[in-house]
Amino acid sequence: MTQVPVVVIGAGHAGLAVSHVLTGRGVEHVVLERGEVANTWRTERWDSLRLLTPNWLTRLPGLAYEGDDPDGFMTVEELIGFIERYAELGDAPVRTQTEVTSVAPGDSGYVVTTRDGSWEAQAVVLATGAFNRPKVPAVAASLPDELEQVTTLDYKRPDGLRPGRVLVVGASATGLQIADELLRSGREVTVAVGEHVRMPRACTGRDIMWWLDRIGRLDERYDQVDDLVRARHVPSPQLVGTPDREDLDLNALTARGAELVGRLAAVRDGHALFSGSLRNVCNLADLKLVRLLDTIDARTAEDGLGDDAIARPEPTRVPASPRLDVDLVAGGYETVLWATGFRSDYAWLDVPVLDRKGELRHDGGIVRDAPGLYRIGLNFLRRRKSSFIHGAEDDATDLVEDLVAHLGSSIRTFPINFV
Ligand SMILES: Cc1cc2nc3c(=O)[nH]c(=O)nc-3n(C[C@H](O)[C@H](O)[C@H](O)COP(=O)(O)OP(=O)(O)OC[C@H]3O[C@@H](n4cnc5c(N)ncnc54)[C@H](O)[C@@H]3O)c2cc1C
Repeated sequence: MTQVPVVVIGAGHAGLAVSHVLTGRGVEHVVLERGEVANTWRTERWDSLRLLTPNWLTRLPGLAYEGDDPDGFMTVEELIGFIERYAELGDAPVRTQTEVTSVAPGDSGYVVTTRDGSWEAQAVVLATGAFNRPKVPAVAASLPDELEQVTTLDYKRPDGLRPGRVLVVGASATGLQIADELLRSGREVTVAVGEHVRMPRACTGRDIMWWLDRIGRLDERYDQVDDLVRARHVPSPQLVGTPDREDLDLNALTARGAELVGRLAAVRDGHALFSGSLRNVCNLADLKLVRLLDTIDARTAEDGLGDDAIARPEPTRVPASPRLDVDLVAGGYETVLWATGFRSDYAWLDVPVLDRKGELRHDGGIVRDAPGLYRIGLNFLRRRKSSFIHGAEDDATDLVEDLVAHLGSSIRTFPINFV
C-alpha cells in the first residue's frame, strides 16, 4: 500500500485546482484519474457544445484565459486544451487510467483502492464531478419499446439519432441547446417544459455572466441562502455560447418550429401525458427574469452606467391549448431525449456519509461525519458559482485551508513511492 498525505480523486478542472492549491501549500498528494485529464469533456459531451460561460470567466487558481477573444465561448476541444495546459503548468501529480473502486476508512484516515493498487491517506478530496449519471425519471420504464431513449451523456450529434420526431424532456441549458440543434438539422421536435430559468445572453452590451458577477449573484454563499436544498437544485440557465451571442429561450425554439408541452407527468398505454402547468412555469420564469433585469437596472443606475432601463423581452409564447396527451408511436416519435439533469455516482464510496437519496452529507464540501473527507465540484457547494469552472478558485482555497488544519502537526511528508 502506498502512503501519501492526500489523495485527490478526479483530474477534471476541480481536482486539478485542489492539486494546485495543495502544491502551493507544500502538501504532498496524488491525483487519481480513471481516464485522461479532462476525461468527462472528452467522453461525455456532444460534438457542437461550447461553454455557456465567456472565456474571461474560464480561469482557475494560477491560470487565467490569455487568448484574444475574452468574450467568446470555448469549444470542448479548446477547453480540454486549457485544462491539459493547467495540469502541465502546475506539474500536477496525476496518475491517469487509475480508476478508484473503493474509498474506505483506514487506520490513519482512508484506504483508497484502485484497479492498480491501494493508497493510504489522511485526507481524501472527491473531485469526481457532479454529472456522473443522468437523472432519468421512473416513467422512462413505461415508454413503448419501439422508442429509442437517449440521455444527454450519450447524445453526440443529430444524425446519431434515428430519423423521426424527437421528444426532448427538459428545458434547461442542455435540453434547449440540443433541441435547437435538432431543429436546425430539420427534425420535428417537441419539448416538455418544467421549471426553468430564462436569461438573456447580454444586457446593455454586457454579457449576463458579467452582470451576475457584478450584482454579487455568483458569490452568494451556501450559508447565507434561505433554502439551501432548493438553491442546490435550481436548473441551469437557458443560455448558449455562440459566436454571434444569440439568445436561446423557448421563443427562439418555437420560432424554429418546436412544439411546447408541459412537464412529462406519466406514460400510459404508449401515450405521454403532460402536465397542464406549461403556462404557469413559463409565467414564473418570465417573472423571475423581469426581477433579475430590475436588479440589473438598479445596479446600472447606482454605478452611473446609464439611466435607460433594459428592454423587457417578449413574454414566453405559450400555445393556447398545449397538448396534454400524445400517442408517441402513432405520432411518429422515434426518440425520447432525457435532458432531465444529472446526479453524482458514489458507488465506490464505502464511508457511511450518504443520505437517503444517495447524496453526500456535507457542510460546504467538508464532510463533518468523516473527518478528512472533502468534496468539490457540486452545485452551490460553497457559493452559487461552485459548479462553474471559475467557482473552483475560491472553493479549492477554502477546502485546502480546512484540510491543512485537519492534517495539522500530524502531516506526514514521506515521499510518494510510485510502484
Ligand atoms: C453539458 C454541460 C455543460 C457545461 N457547461 C459549462 C459552462 O459552460 N461553464 C462552466 O463553468 N461549467 C459548465 N459545466 C459545469 C462544469 O464545469 C463541468 O461539469 C465540469 O466538468 C465539472 O468539473 P469537475 O472537475 O468537478 O468534474 P469533471 O470534469 O466531471 O471531472 C471529474 C473527474 O473525475 C474522474 N472520476 C470520476 N470517478 C472516478 C473514479 N471512481 N476514479 C477515478 N477518477 C474518477 C472523471 O473521469 C473525471 O475526469 C457544464 C456541465 C455540463 C454537464
